[in-house]
Amino acid sequence: MSHSPVENVVIIGTGCAGLTAAIYTGRANLSPLVLEGPLPGGQLTTTSEVENFPGFPEGIDGFQLMDNLRQQATKFGTRFETTLVTSVDFSVMPRKLVTSDRVILAKSVIIATGASPRMTGIPGEKELYGGKGVTTCATCDGAFYKKMEVAVIGGGDSAAEEALFLTRFASKVYLVHRRDSLRASKIMADRATSHEKITCVWDSVPVAVEGVEKGAVSGLQVKNVKTGALSTLPVKGIFVAIGHVPNTQPFTPPLDVDHNGYFKPAHGSHIQTKVPGVYVAGDCADHVYRQAITAAGMGCAAAIEAERWLAEHGG
Ligand code: NAP
Repeated sequence: MSHSPVENVVIIGTGCAGLTAAIYTGRANLSPLVLEGPLPGGQLTTTSEVENFPGFPEGIDGFQLMDNLRQQATKFGTRFETTLVTSVDFSVMPRKLVTSDRVILAKSVIIATGASPRMTGIPGEKELYGGKGVTTCATCDGAFYKKMEVAVIGGGDSAAEEALFLTRFASKVYLVHRRDSLRASKIMADRATSHEKITCVWDSVPVAVEGVEKGAVSGLQVKNVKTGALSTLPVKGIFVAIGHVPNTQPFTPPLDVDHNGYFKPAHGSHIQTKVPGVYVAGDCADHVYRQAITAAGMGCAAAIEAERWLAEHGG
C-alpha cells in the first residue's frame, strides 16, 4: 500500500461541515485534501428546498447549495479525492488514514462524516430497498410514484418534509408515526397535517413490507400500538425517515463516542477530540441541533482550530 506526501489538513466528508472547513483552510493557504465518501455533498443533496439557511430569503435547492459550497472550496485550492477511510492510526505523527487503496498521512484531520439514514429493520425492508419501492430519499425517488399511494415512516422534520414533497407526485401520502403528534417543528407539522393529500396514521409502527415475493412493494403492514390492530396500507412506495446514525465507526477506537454513536468531543469543546490536531464537525458529532448552518459553523470552528494548531506545531 503506497504512502503519499504528508498533508497539512485532511477533511473527511463533503457535507456542510466538511466543505465549510475546506473553504476556511483553503483560504488559509493550507491546500486541504477533502475525502469524498458515498454521498457527495452530504444529506442536503437529498433534500428539496432549504428554507432556513441564512442568506437565501427565497430558499435554495439543497443540491445547488452544496454545489455552491464545493465551487467556493475549489476556488481556494481544495483538492478532492473519492475514497472511504476504513481505519485510522492516531497514535503516530503524522496521523494515518487508511483507505482501500492507500495510506494518507496528515498533520491535522477534520472528521465531518455526517450521518446515514436509520432503517426500521422490519421484514421486507432490506429486500425491497433501492429501486424496488423502499427508499430514504423523496427528492431522489419521489417522481417514480406519480399518481400512486405511498407511505412515509417517521414523525420528525425529515418525515414531514418528505411527505410534503411527495404530494407533488403521489395520489395519497400516509404519514405513519408511532405517537399521536409529530416531533417536527410547528411550521412543518402544521403544513403536513393540514395537507389534503396527507393522511396521518397515528400511534402506528411499521411491521412488514409486503411484496418481497414479487420483487416490488405492494403494501406496508402497520400495527396500532394502542389497540394492537394490524392493517395494510396499499402503497407502492415506502419512504423511511426515522432519523440517522452517525458515521463514526472507522474512528472508534481511538476516538470516543456516546451511547448513540456520536463523537464525544474533549476539553469542554464541541469540536476538539482527545487527539491533538484531530477535530470533529457536523452531524457525526452533533445530536442536538443537526442543522446545515450549525454543521457549517462547526466546520468553520474546526478549520480555525486546525489552522492554529498547525501554526504552533509546524504546519
Ligand atoms: P428526528 O427528529 O430524530 O425524528 C425521527 C422520527 O422518527 C421521530 O419522530 C421518531 O419518533 C421516529 N422514529 C425513530 N426511530 C423509529 C423507529 N424505529 N420506528 C418508527 N419511528 C421511529 O430525525 P429527522 O426528522 O431526520 O430530523 C433530524 C434533525 O434534522 C432535526 O434536528 C430536524 O429538526 C432537522 N431537520 C430539519 C429540517 C428543516 O428544518 N427543514 C428538515 C429535516 C431535518 P419519536 O418522535 O417517537 O421519537
